[in-house]
Amino acid sequence: MFYKSTRDSSIKVESSVAITQGISADGGLFVPETIPEITLDEIKNLGNLSYADRAAFIFKKYLTDFTDAEIHYCTDNAYSTKNFETESIAEISQLFDGTYMLELWHGPTCAFKDMALQILPYFLTTSAKKINLDKKIIILVATSGDTGKAALEGFKDVEGTQILVFYPEDGVSPMQKRQMTTQSGENVGVCAMKGNFDDCQNGVKAIFTDSQVKEKMEGAGLMFSSANSINWGRLVPQIVYYISSYASLAESGEISLGDKINVVVPTGNFGNILAAYYAKKMGLPINKLICASNINKVLTDFIETGVYDRNRDFYATCSPSMDILISSNLERLLYIITGHDDAQIREWFTSLAETGRYEVSDAVKKVLSEEFYGGYCDDEQTKSTIHDIYAKYSYTCDTHTAVAVKVYEDYKNATGDTTKTIIASTASPYKFSASVLESIEGRNSDLDEYEMVDKIAELSDIPVPAALAELKDKERRFKDSIEKSDMTSYVLKEFGLN
Ligand SMILES: *Cc1c(COP(=O)(O)O)cnc(C)c1O
Repeated sequence: MFYKSTRDSSIKVESSVAITQGISADGGLFVPETIPEITLDEIKNLGNLSYADRAAFIFKKYLTDFTDAEIHYCTDNAYSTKNFETESIAEISQLFDGTYMLELWHGPTCAFKDMALQILPYFLTTSAKKINLDKKIIILVATSGDTGKAALEGFKDVEGTQILVFYPEDGVSPMQKRQMTTQSGENVGVCAMKGNFDDCQNGVKAIFTDSQVKEKMEGAGLMFSSANSINWGRLVPQIVYYISSYASLAESGEISLGDKINVVVPTGNFGNILAAYYAKKMGLPINKLICASNINKVLTDFIETGVYDRNRDFYATCSPSMDILISSNLERLLYIITGHDDAQIREWFTSLAETGRYEVSDAVKKVLSEEFYGGYCDDEQTKSTIHDIYAKYSYTCDTHTAVAVKVYEDYKNATGDTTKTIIASTASPYKFSASVLESIEGRNSDLDEYEMVDKIAELSDIPVPAALAELKDKERRFKDSIEKSDMTSYVLKEFGLN
């Protein structure tokens, strides 16, 4: 299996190269040349395996340059109860009849990003060895809050790597900020940036493709890689839990093998839902992919009109990990839908960079609306959804997951579709305590962050994750804050490249 760049189909590399590079030198994203199949029989057999073995089975279809031993080394280390609080790794909880919450936040940083970032360092160091890389890998991360912490936790003290995370100073929750700025490890760095997530992501992408920076890096024996979902190594682990959850539901008799299901995903950078799309293309019986956004609803509009337009106000919401106007992974989807038309992708994404807008053809728009349903809700609706499902089902969910639940309700009302449905639950409610508590109690709380955590513990039946409880006594290590125009010089300084 080879990987091609979305902006130049003549670029063709093995998975180990795609993973170490993170992004193609032409600015395109790596995608598998073909999408491998999974049969219903294979899915049935997964039902008897551990999560690590399910993952290994799927990775073998994509990472064909890895040996079986290398794949199992990665999966066994990443997906164990050393790192995750539940044996199942991805826990399924029935919200009500035929609607299941796929809880992807039982990992060390309490967000779904752990599902991929616990394994990415193993993929990356294994890949580097395979291609005889003699450079130190610098992981540069732009985060809307959760990726940063999950990447820090995954890469801390991993030999041959160093990691630097940029986050938008006022764009993350207090718990997220605390998680990052107290990070331990000798090879980690964290810096706040005065701007929003899109500025952050643009800054990092620009550094990746800056030829002068690249030259300096090479001179110093360093190379960049990415832990954002532009890296294929971030995406492929996310395919696993959709297939795995289907296998579990079939195994337990909740669905019959071959039944179609809907999948609802609270979406930002379009990575998580793209993984569900890959699962569908592989053969997983998925009916509709429901793309849920907050008030930054650039994706809802795109699915409805075929026009992607980021020229609009940016809102800071109570679901900050979805406060994004440039959803990078859409590029991969459009590459697939256009039949790998790299010239077309170049045109659209050049237009996006230059004018903030592109418009797809009617044919593409038609495929989009067949495969996806897009919806959004505002903060008020998010909070009332948290309140309602707590009251009705005694289930406590975070703000991002609540956006998905609300959009799913709207979808059901609009279509009458009663297909069984999996909702991706992307973060622990404890990461967004203030909003969650305010929603449940119906008023603002005057408790501090940790008192709020304790209060939620009283109200819900979810134990406080040890990793969050510990933060209270940790010292803040990282205090730097810079202008967005200073990101490149900060990076050069951090790595001694001036
Ligand atoms: C990152 C994140 C999202 C958005 O996922 P994408 O893959 O970027 O679409 C949603 N919810 C939470 C809690 C997240 O951390």
